Amino acid sequence: MSGLPDYHVHTYRCGHAGGDSRDFVRKAIEHGLSEIGMTDHIPLYFLPVAERDPKLAMKEEEFDGYIAEVLALREEFRGSIAVRLGLEADYREGHEEELARWLERGDWDLVLGSVHWVAGGWIDAPGSAARFEKEGTERLYDEYYRLLAKAARSGFFDVLTHFDLPKKFGHRPAAPREAAEREAIAAAKEGHCAVEISSAGLRKPVAEAYPQARLLSAIVSAGVPVTFSSDAHAPAEVGWGYDKTLALARDCGVEQFVTFESRRKLFHPLPASV
Ligand SMILES: [Zn+2]
Ligand SMILES: [Zn+2]
Repeated sequence: MSGLPDYHVHTYRCGHAGGDSRDFVRKAIEHGLSEIGMTDHIPLYFLPVAERDPKLAMKEEEFDGYIAEVLALREEFRGSIAVRLGLEADYREGHEEELARWLERGDWDLVLGSVHWVAGGWIDAPGSAARFEKEGTERLYDEYYRLLAKAARSGFFDVLTHFDLPKKFGHRPAAPREAAEREAIAAAKEGHCAVEISSAGLRKPVAEAYPQARLLSAIVSAGVPVTFSSDAHAPAEVGWGYDKTLALARDCGVEQFVTFESRRKLFHPLPASV
């Protein structure tokens, strides 16, 4: 019984996750997790309607049904596990007012801030790998961290997701983009954001958790809180890889993790094992 949360979980509504939402919760209980945060993808509010791919995020008309389903799960599993109402919300520069309107529609426990859209396109979609050679790995990393820092300071988000996402397909700058990284970490601190330690990267071509150890150590040193997640898109992925991410956390000096209720942080000591 680890008592860790899984704070990044999708549902079928996003078009690229599968399984009964109840089975995600059951899996969390099976793993002895303390909480599950349902955090499906916000509708692609920042793209023209015709370009909102239903395979990437839930449609606008599904939003209220998503909230209702999570609230029903919270009641159904009350006493067994805490089900939190969350959302994975894209940050897109220049579309802050639309984002604010979407976020007003739910009484969230936590809002994840994700930068998926960088320099005019997706940074992590299957077709994105080709962008790195064409547009320059250094340039894309710098722009990604610039946007992540802006997201962190925006006040919209409780947790920054997959902190070093541009590495997903294995593209790395010749040397770490330290100035850009430092600025994003400082912004997380100033914006009172936590950072997720996500096992999802271990399932991707890069085969490394987000964030990598070097960055996680810097995040911890800066006093930025952390939490745990899997970015599950299937029930079997809930709590997946937590033995590895817990060990990573310990190696990087993490002593506490945070959970959220009505967007308030609660601090807990890191457990000894999963
Ligand atoms: Zn997804
Ligand atoms: Zn996700």
